[in-house]
Amino acid sequence: MQPEKKKIAPHWQILIALILATGTAVVFRNISQTVADDSTAYRFIQMAITVCGFIGNLFIQALKMIIVPLVVSSIIAGIASLGGMKGFGRLGMKTLAFYTGTSLCAVLVGLTLVNTIQPGLDENGHADAKILAALESQSDTASSEQKAKVEAASERQAGDYADLFKKMIPPNIFKAASENGQLLGMIFFSIIFALAMTRLPKDHMRPLLGSVQGINEVMIKVTEWIMLLAPIGVFGLLLPTIYNTGPELFVLLGKYFFTVLLALAIHMFIIMPMILHFVGRVSPWAHFRAMRMALLTAFSTASSAATLPETMQCVQKNSGVSKRVTSFTLPLGATVNMDGTALYECVAVLFVAQVMGFEMGVAAQLAVVVTALLTSIGVAGVPSASLVAILLILNSSGIPNANMAVVALLAVDRLLDMSRTAVNVFGDSCAAVCIARTEGEDVLSKGAPNS
Ligand code: ASP
Repeated sequence: MQPEKKKIAPHWQILIALILATGTAVVFRNISQTVADDSTAYRFIQMAITVCGFIGNLFIQALKMIIVPLVVSSIIAGIASLGGMKGFGRLGMKTLAFYTGTSLCAVLVGLTLVNTIQPGLDENGHADAKILAALESQSDTASSEQKAKVEAASERQAGDYADLFKKMIPPNIFKAASENGQLLGMIFFSIIFALAMTRLPKDHMRPLLGSVQGINEVMIKVTEWIMLLAPIGVFGLLLPTIYNTGPELFVLLGKYFFTVLLALAIHMFIIMPMILHFVGRVSPWAHFRAMRMALLTAFSTASSAATLPETMQCVQKNSGVSKRVTSFTLPLGATVNMDGTALYECVAVLFVAQVMGFEMGVAAQLAVVVTALLTSIGVAGVPSASLVAILLILNSSGIPNANMAVVALLAVDRLLDMSRTAVNVFGDSCAAVCIARTEGEDVLSKGAPNS
């Protein structure tokens, strides 16, 4: 008998890809700093970076490709198969309360740390001139594309965020489906569609429901196929990112990076596990294990929208949450619940204020907390989306040099974006688990999954 070949577990494959991409990027960076720009080695490295970027983009696009059919079919199947509105209002209220409460916790963690560590001040408690110079040089060397992005974003007003509520009722569902990382319109339409379906005569409704369930299962299968390619996709995404982010930046803005990462870690590894333990009454460790593929995907793609198919898969299959709860909480969460982003916005705004020597009293800081909470709802689940919100808060708080600071932050954003996206996705998954538990579901009852 042939000995059975041992397969490396998928999350290990992704971790290996992460490590290989980091190692290769460091080697490439060192080589390209020592060889001439027209040498074969340099040209080879540039070509490899371009090819990797292309492959990484294909991976993200494949994930995005399935979001709309997956979300629509799972919401419709989830609500219609359970006979409609029963308990739906209760589910909605719990979800909103959970999302608001956890985002507030996240922002408060950020606020506390940025006031304690004061990453924008020097040893004497004055605005740190070295950091200001670092931001200015970052902003000077930023690509024209990045500058144009920030310039365009600075035209946006607070009213644009209020527009989010208008988007909830989409005048054109196809346009709503094409919105990048913004799913509210599709969610609203799917809920209405499912509710109307339950009012149809049984013999009309059944074949329709069967087809929607079929589409949903097909999308789940496609998600599995795409995730088979995740190690290659992750390698392709990470290599150019690390290659283009030099270690110098970490030294210059070290205190700022440290503050953001520490705050994110406290929220993800202390606050959320406590909520899982006390509210959900489940083992946080088991839930971490259940979510590892989704967390690695979120970290690698820096997009909670692109990660949504995998988040749904992990929460349903590994944590054992019902389709009814998953299909409501997760798509909504990927759009409106961003703990990591809210926390980051708060830290970034106060950091820039410190660097600019702009005094922010309690009232001004509270205003930042509220705007960070509100704007994090409107931020799309795509890379670097929160920088637009940061610009808006900086401008509305009257902090000077907002555009320059945001151009600089954009240039060093990727690692922080990857980390906060993982926190965003984890927050959504904790909501699904805790809410399912309060609905009496037997979640994570078998402990942590092994694969
Ligand atoms: N990249 C984040 C996400 O997709 C959004 C952001 O904070 O920029 O969740």
